[in-house]
Amino acid sequence: MIRKIIHVDVDAFYAAVEERDDPSLKGRPVIVGGTSDRGVVTTCNYEARKFGVHSAMPLFQAKKLCPGGIYLPGRRERYQEVSAQVFQVLETFTDQLEKVSIDEAYLDITGLYQSPGVVARAIKARVKAVTGLTVSVGISYNKFLAKLGSDWNKPDGLKEITEAEIPEILKPLDIRKIHGLGEKSAGRLYAIGVHTVEDLLAYDLRTLENLLGSGGREIYERIRGRDLREVVPLHERKSLGTERTLTDNVRGEAALREVARAYFEEVTRDLKGKGLLARTLTLKVKFDDFTQITRSKSLAEATDEFRIFEPLLEDLIRQIPLAKPMRLIGVSYGGLLKNQHRQLVFDTLFELGKPPE
Ligand SMILES: [Mg+2]
Repeated sequence: MIRKIIHVDVDAFYAAVEERDDPSLKGRPVIVGGTSDRGVVTTCNYEARKFGVHSAMPLFQAKKLCPGGIYLPGRRERYQEVSAQVFQVLETFTDQLEKVSIDEAYLDITGLYQSPGVVARAIKARVKAVTGLTVSVGISYNKFLAKLGSDWNKPDGLKEITEAEIPEILKPLDIRKIHGLGEKSAGRLYAIGVHTVEDLLAYDLRTLENLLGSGGREIYERIRGRDLREVVPLHERKSLGTERTLTDNVRGEAALREVARAYFEEVTRDLKGKGLLARTLTLKVKFDDFTQITRSKSLAEATDEFRIFEPLLEDLIRQIPLAKPMRLIGVSYGGLLKNQHRQLVFDTLFELGKPPE
């Protein structure tokens, strides 16, 4: 199953918020990061970058490079506010949304019918319309490559990285661009003449583990285009579901289907009972080795119809690897909406003094 992962990153976020709130800053180098010389640059806009200023640079150094820049202390609360607006937009696309930082998120859109390119362009347009900010979007089949994509042609970038492009894209890449490879590790590799991914590909797993410690395996996999990390939605508050650790571990598709269907029926009754519609169905399985897998499918429109979600559940069951015994199974609905029509019916029945259903 090839996943569709999107990484969204707001361009020069803090500086962009400052420019939006004060249009007189547009076109001028804006550096956010405090006014004392002891601080460091938190964010700077692209005009400031032309002077060689970059984030994490000490402010005194930035001021030498760009004495005419506008130096702002930053307004944390305001950034939180605008961040919330950005995430409200992203949430309308999928609830398989992982917030990485104030201005960065992964979306797993495997369950959406639209192509990732269409979704990515829609995300860019809607964030721009609602907040006035531009975002860069990367698309690929795992998180590592999606993040690499969003970094590819910032600002206002859009880059899809396909499996076929892996050697061509990764080989010339500076190892300092490998997300997850720390600065110290990169320095150590540079010292022994390893500058690009191509150089690094020459090392076998054991050597990398010796050089980089426990993170060696991860880096070994990533530079080969492999990254199995899931998009993990942090707050499931917008979902309704049932999950239970099983009394005895079960194994095989029939057992999975039996438990999943029972939970599915239960949670669908619950959905209807609460007067809600859902757009996304999620199946989660934890295995006896405590690894877990979550798979979701979404509809174009929310519903509470059992028969519409039933084939989705079947699809999800087929996506679960069956080799290992399962210790927990969960089924949940996401992308919840109030069923307006239904609520009306309930209210009317109440007024008439009849028990609702
Ligand atoms: Mg950013």
